[in-house]
Amino acid sequence: MSKLVPHEENLTARYAERAARMVPSEIRSLFAVASRPEIVSLAGGMPNLSALPMEMMADVVQKLILENGQEALQYGSGQGHPRLREQICEMMALEGIRAKSDDVVITTGSQAALDLITRIFVDPGDVILVEAPSYVGALGVFAQYQSQVVHIAMDDKGLIPAALTEAITKVRAAGGKIKFLYCIPNFQNPSGVTMPASRRTEILDICREAEIFVVEDNPYGLLGFDGPVPNAMRAEDHENVIYLGSFSKTIVPGLRVGWALVPQGVKEKLIIANESSVLCPSNFAQLTISSYLAHEPWRDQIASFCSLYKERRDAMLESLDAHFPASATWTKPKGGFYVWVTLPPEIDTKVLVPRAIAAKVAYVPGTAFYADGFGSWQMRLSYCHPTPERIRKGVAALGNVVKEEIARRGGETPKAVR
Ligand code: PMP
Repeated sequence: MSKLVPHEENLTARYAERAARMVPSEIRSLFAVASRPEIVSLAGGMPNLSALPMEMMADVVQKLILENGQEALQYGSGQGHPRLREQICEMMALEGIRAKSDDVVITTGSQAALDLITRIFVDPGDVILVEAPSYVGALGVFAQYQSQVVHIAMDDKGLIPAALTEAITKVRAAGGKIKFLYCIPNFQNPSGVTMPASRRTEILDICREAEIFVVEDNPYGLLGFDGPVPNAMRAEDHENVIYLGSFSKTIVPGLRVGWALVPQGVKEKLIIANESSVLCPSNFAQLTISSYLAHEPWRDQIASFCSLYKERRDAMLESLDAHFPASATWTKPKGGFYVWVTLPPEIDTKVLVPRAIAAKVAYVPGTAFYADGFGSWQMRLSYCHPTPERIRKGVAALGNVVKEEIARRGGETPKAVR
């Protein structure tokens, strides 16, 4: 007799425990709807490649294959290509980082670096300190390694040092093992907030004193459009900071090239973890990026990305001013992709999604960015992808949906704080 294909419920018993935490993110389930052409998607955080000359990319790829195909299409090193690691150090110098290429490990996007670092450090039950709110992709990784996420409150200057100290004391008093602090100091995803230099120093001092690594995730650092961006935290502390970088936002996400700059002691483990995951990061992708950096005006290209995003950021902030109710507040990002909106606390942004979709606009509800269900009256709006006209249309439509909901509930109430 032939065996039946196992259904999901009998498979559950066969899965590892950690599989129970492998659940789709709220963003993923929204993507299918948000990508319909009639919907203005303020949901995804996809880089806008319309400013990238595709003929130039095609030339880079063609030359690479014709001139160096034997290497580009071959396996490579588990640590990543030495030439690209040198170029990464030149790029990080723009953020004040002085590093040796030997301390860089190239990964399949910085997402893989996040996964591998967590794999190296975190046992089930260990604590990871995380900004509130934080990057949904990091929360997914932390969940899968069965960590406990402890959120640390932020203000308009990022992580609040006193809240960090308090959390460390509390977790340790309860016997918790803190493995690292995960933070995104520049144009944070999802809040758009940037930590000023003095705040960075305070956070670094607290973590060094408490012997807690800082994992500094910095994919947006070079996408500032309103004046200088503070130096990376890694620039100030090379022993206690694990720095994650990415070409996804400065060049292209599709090649999946990111990196980690790690203290010497962590490097060997990271290379081994990388090898066990992918053997080696793609030589083709790395050498494409490397040739692009060597031969093309990448600084100018980043400047064109910045002006494209700035125009969209301005369109979004103007439309929020024009169409959102007085009881709503939002961040004013100086770079990156995101604006974080806080509505009156009785408004549930998850409940509003179908109404927003009916009004042809999509966003991500705030709860996606917390591990603990917080944020039900918040939402992330991204301005990176639609045209400024579409952003204006989408924000106006969303403003109406929000105002209708406030009116339906009979008025406005003061905002709650975390
Ligand atoms: N960190 C943050 C804060 C991000 O926003 C993203 C992508 N949206 C990543 C890491 C992952 O980027 P990638 O894997 O493309 O380098």
